[in-house]
Amino acid sequence: MTENATNSRETLGFQAEVKQLLQLMIHSLYSNREIFLRELVSNASDACDKLRFEGLHNAALFENDSDMAIRIGYDKTARTLTVSDNGIGMNRDEVINNLGTIAKSGTREFFSRLSGDQQKDAHLIGQFGVGFYSSFIVADRVTVLTRRAGENVGQGVRWESDGGGEFSIEMVEKATRGTEITLHLRDGQDDLLEGHKLRGIIRKYSNHIVQPILMKKEEWKDDKQQLTDEDETVNQASALWARSKNEISDEQYREFYKHVGHDFDDPLAWTHVRVEGRQEYTQLLYIPAHAPFDMWDRQSRHGVKLYVRRVFIMDDAEQLMPLYLRFVRGVVDSSDLPLNVSREILQESKDIEAIRKGCTNKVLALLADLAENDKEKYATFWKEFGKALKEGVGEDFANKDKIAGLLRFASTHADTPEETVSLAGYIGRMKEGQEKIYYVTAETFNAAKNSPHLEVFRKKGIEVLLMSDRVDEWALSYLTEFDGKPLASVAKGGLDLGKLEDEAEKQAQEKRADEFKELTGKIKSSLAERVKEVRVTHRLTDSPACLVADEHDLSGNLARMLKAAGQKAPVSQPILEINPQHPVVLRLKTEEKRFDDWAAVLFDQALLAEGGQLDDPATFVRRINQLMLELGG
Ligand code: ADP
Repeated sequence: MTENATNSRETLGFQAEVKQLLQLMIHSLYSNREIFLRELVSNASDACDKLRFEGLHNAALFENDSDMAIRIGYDKTARTLTVSDNGIGMNRDEVINNLGTIAKSGTREFFSRLSGDQQKDAHLIGQFGVGFYSSFIVADRVTVLTRRAGENVGQGVRWESDGGGEFSIEMVEKATRGTEITLHLRDGQDDLLEGHKLRGIIRKYSNHIVQPILMKKEEWKDDKQQLTDEDETVNQASALWARSKNEISDEQYREFYKHVGHDFDDPLAWTHVRVEGRQEYTQLLYIPAHAPFDMWDRQSRHGVKLYVRRVFIMDDAEQLMPLYLRFVRGVVDSSDLPLNVSREILQESKDIEAIRKGCTNKVLALLADLAENDKEKYATFWKEFGKALKEGVGEDFANKDKIAGLLRFASTHADTPEETVSLAGYIGRMKEGQEKIYYVTAETFNAAKNSPHLEVFRKKGIEVLLMSDRVDEWALSYLTEFDGKPLASVAKGGLDLGKLEDEAEKQAQEKRADEFKELTGKIKSSLAERVKEVRVTHRLTDSPACLVADEHDLSGNLARMLKAAGQKAPVSQPILEINPQHPVVLRLKTEEKRFDDWAAVLFDQALLAEGGQLDDPATFVRRINQLMLELGG
């Protein structure tokens, strides 16, 4: 190789996050050091896939060599390990971007979550994806030689770094396209310079890689093991998803997931189906065991990969999965689509629509199966991805009932937000005469759990679902019933417990409403515009008052959420309900002098109790103090 005189060597600094990642990774992942090979092979395989795809449109890129392969070699004397591929390669700008920065969205946020605790951080870094940088776990110097397919020989790039703060870059000649990565091993890593050791690692982690992974055969000569010139394929080198299920071990499924899912951990579950008939395609879809750090970033990549007859077409083909299943990873391989399919074509393709439908059904069936047969796994799934699945209720009308069956909610039936119930389970526990599924929404689990609206339900032993996810209010606007039972908010409209109350109770309530007519009228005139109506309720047992929304108005919780999100919400006045048995309310009947203060405090505390904010907290505090002094004196 000759130096290119016009492009002398340059030294550049890593992006700050790369430096941090390198430092952390070397220590946190050391016990898992072998994974560096999986990461490099995975990148090499992606690079070959990309070339195969670009080559469909531009055959010149193959430079008369369209047999893709990955080579792994070692040199005991130089103490180096080399991973090379004849894939797409990189030009200078790509090298600087890809091997000098981390171009993922949410990177800064991710790094702010690292704690300094090695074990915890190792786990997080795994979720983040270590990729190329993991070479530095075993190497103290890494050299990358690469040339983008189709560029001329002088456009090779040499990158080198010791994993500190900087890397060097220079233009060099490279005869063959693709990328060659040389690891100069750290002291104590010499066991990696053994053929059988490397073969073992490759078979363990990279057996499923589609391209052949080649190594030089070894032979014994004069009692010494020597490399020959003959190549041998170490891995199975066939598309895993194209094999039949009974030929694939769970271990192989798991390793394949780590490659397609860019994940460090095992998947939670998978479904592998070959669909035949009018449409022919194979799907191998995985549910990860944890949400990626950029799950809530709608730009995040790495979804389902699309292949056409085993040729890689694109990453993250978002048309293959509805948005609410964006956490699914895996491969769809179609036999029907044309090879030159583009994102634009996908958007309008009827074939893709059918595939998406099929994939959605399979994933929902897989989830239903987990929910039924592996409660622990389903609980993990729910914790990680439940919020996304809830979006499906509003997004996927065709599957609304199926999705509703998969939903889980905190409930007054359980003690912690982690213990969740299903709607079917709720229905199974409904009281004799109960016709509705009751729920309360609030900003937090505790606010929901302690909401005054629940008091009568608690007294009567009626279960109420506790909803405190942001998406709940939205999802509930689409989910008005389940299995023929309407869902009803306990904080909306008049309380009608239907057959859960007997005639005597109903009559007593009417009588009380009459007795309190004068008082409710007085409170209404005192509070004026702040309330729509004041009425007596039997909803409360311990609290003196609460607010409810009128049947067709926005709930207080939703109105607050919209406001916090900077959106305009129609202003609707709440209804103040008072508890006719509460001593404070009874006292109000005879109060003259401070009636307005009492009425205002009643309203303000009801607003506070449901998580609302006071317009004028200082006045509230002044009134409370005043009333306390008077009572004390
Ligand atoms: P990831 O693979 O998760 O994107 P990496 O840090 O492993 O992260 O790699 C960063 C990028 O560098 C890759 O996305 C790819 O564009 C490029 N790259 C890495 N290895 C190769 C390779 N062997 N050939 C071509 N490009 C590569």
